[in-house]
Amino acid sequence: MRSPDYLESLNPQQLEAVTHYGTPLLILAGAGSGKTRVITTRIAYLCDVAGFDPRSILAVTFTNKASREMAERAASLSPGTRGVMIRTFHSFGAWLLRRNAHLAGLKSGFTIYDDDDSLTLLHSTQDSRKKQDLKRYVRMISRAKDYALGPEDDLTTISSDPELPRLYRLYQERLDRMGNVDFGDLIMKPVRLLGEVEELRRRFHQRFKAVMVDEYQDSNVAQFKLLKALSGPDTDICVVGDEDQSIYRFRGAEVQNILNFSREFKGTRVIRLEENYRSTGTILAVASSVIANNQERLGKTLWTRNPEGVRARIVYLRDHDEEAEYCARLLGDRRYSDTAILYRTNAQSLAFESVFLRRGIPYRIVGSLRFYEREEVKDVLAFLAFISNSLDEVAFRRIVNKPARGIGNTTLQRILDQAEGDDLLSACEAILPSLGGRSAAGLAGFVDLFRRLQQMLESAPLAEVIELLIRDSGLYEYHQKQDEVAATQKTSNLEEMVNAAADYGRGPEALVSFLEDIELDRSRMTAEEESGEYVTLITMHNTKGLEFPRVIITGMEEELFPGNNGFREVDYEEERRIFYVSLTRAREELILTSCRSRFIWGRRNLQSPSCFLREIPQERVEVEGDEKPAASAALTYSPGDGVYHDAYGTGVVVKSWLNGERELIIVRFETGRSATFYPEFENHLERV
Ligand code: ATP
Ligand code: MG
Repeated sequence: MRSPDYLESLNPQQLEAVTHYGTPLLILAGAGSGKTRVITTRIAYLCDVAGFDPRSILAVTFTNKASREMAERAASLSPGTRGVMIRTFHSFGAWLLRRNAHLAGLKSGFTIYDDDDSLTLLHSTQDSRKKQDLKRYVRMISRAKDYALGPEDDLTTISSDPELPRLYRLYQERLDRMGNVDFGDLIMKPVRLLGEVEELRRRFHQRFKAVMVDEYQDSNVAQFKLLKALSGPDTDICVVGDEDQSIYRFRGAEVQNILNFSREFKGTRVIRLEENYRSTGTILAVASSVIANNQERLGKTLWTRNPEGVRARIVYLRDHDEEAEYCARLLGDRRYSDTAILYRTNAQSLAFESVFLRRGIPYRIVGSLRFYEREEVKDVLAFLAFISNSLDEVAFRRIVNKPARGIGNTTLQRILDQAEGDDLLSACEAILPSLGGRSAAGLAGFVDLFRRLQQMLESAPLAEVIELLIRDSGLYEYHQKQDEVAATQKTSNLEEMVNAAADYGRGPEALVSFLEDIELDRSRMTAEEESGEYVTLITMHNTKGLEFPRVIITGMEEELFPGNNGFREVDYEEERRIFYVSLTRAREELILTSCRSRFIWGRRNLQSPSCFLREIPQERVEVEGDEKPAASAALTYSPGDGVYHDAYGTGVVVKSWLNGERELIIVRFETGRSATFYPEFENHLERV
């Protein structure tokens, strides 16, 4: 038989990997060396040449997007690949459990619980504990499941908390009794079943003759066990990975899975791929010198025959508005779809979204919702809508018991009946005296909060109103717990709401125009969904496996990147791997932006450039803009000078001095409040 065309473009190592079968195969290679391409080509090869039935091949990826792309790729290589199963680990687990629900003691239509559902369930097993306190345990249980540990196992590696084993057992018993599963179970239960039910194990070993895993460096212990359970006496196992790209260790990803692979799977053939096909020489050199700073690595060399290409660019900008404008201007010279804009935290998308919407630049956010569609943001918007209009029943329903204040459906219905379409806040006050217990306290707190917010809105800057709202409503604490459970970044989005309002001044009109602008932005969004050409906005984590002709890595500033997700210590090695993943997404052009200042909770903060920028070889970059603000030779303000500030009103400078190279002033405003500013950064301050 003539060998298929798709083998021709492969280099010798790739060809060897694609055509190898019969013993386990580990492909260890750096970014852009064709690992994913090897997997897809190997699928085609096994079907077309090696005589595998497509239905006997299982390929596992980590994201739905990656599995869709792999399926398309395989189909385009060969029609013979129809029927190959390409899924994420979780979706494979769910598939296995649905078909064998009776064996696993599950309802066939079982529900998959997310962290929120898990918390509700755990809470229902407890008489007196508060939901908030239980979130830690939900997180620990989920972590235990990443390590395939059940309630009866030794859990001290997860936590020494003496309560954990008991709560885990109660939780699992209740979940099992209901016949539902959580995410961890989608992997754990198949592992157990395959271990315990010989007949099932035999059936799976019959069915799957070849199993392949992409991005193997991000698999956890439970996923490793699943792979092990699936590998029968004559199952062909092939995994590909890059330990330098392991970026989910905080969720239990276990790099040992790569390091121990050869020991666990006897007779493993290890193939290294060293030629990078994706990036220019410059981009590869930058990425390689950055990752060389990590200690925990096997170390490998990558080379490319691609041209050196243009130098990377480091651009220092004033602030995040200028950063977004800068990106918008750059976009003009290529097709929109050539560029991806990367950031470390989700909340950073807002500045780009606002500028792009205003300028009619189509964009798509990969792996998360648009800023104003995110749960926590919609919560704040509902509070604001209700401050501005206490007839708004939709907003009221969303927030009256979020976070939980003991206001159940009965109380809610009484309030709605009382209001009869009229003012809901007055209706709450009217029924308060007739309530008792938890709902009385909860509703009184709710009413009091709104009265305070309404009063504050009369004179305080909008940003401060929103900050108070976020703190005093309990939304901050509520979402912070979510962040800890699910490693999300919801509190950063709350903070970004405060920052977004910082430009709007004070008073009820400020709120009205703030809400109006958001409404306009939201209506513009839908129109853009139609066009196929769009810029990609994406978090660094979500870029895994993807590539773009031009990559802009934004927010290269200390505290932001390397960052810590707010509640962990900064793990420099893991952050550097995230940086390595980000850098190696670029094919032709690499741009890094760093701002001299940025809003943090509505106040301008001075930023310093990320320490990672210093790890880039000087000869590979061009620098634009100044790292530091221009030094002011002398002070421009003196005590006694009159000023006007958009948000705080009229005031007088009481002190001015140089802090390092920058002028700093203290202003006392007529309202009695004092504030400190760097005048060169403060857009809203004028001399009068
Ligand atoms: P990552 O580590 O980022 O997941 P990877 O190792 O999976 O990268 P691929 O995405 O498979 O790399 O390949 C990177 C790019 O190089 C793709 O555009 C791919 O089509 C191309 N490529 C890979 N091998 C070859 C080859 N032999 N000839 C031409 N192009 C190739
Ligand atoms: Mg890949």
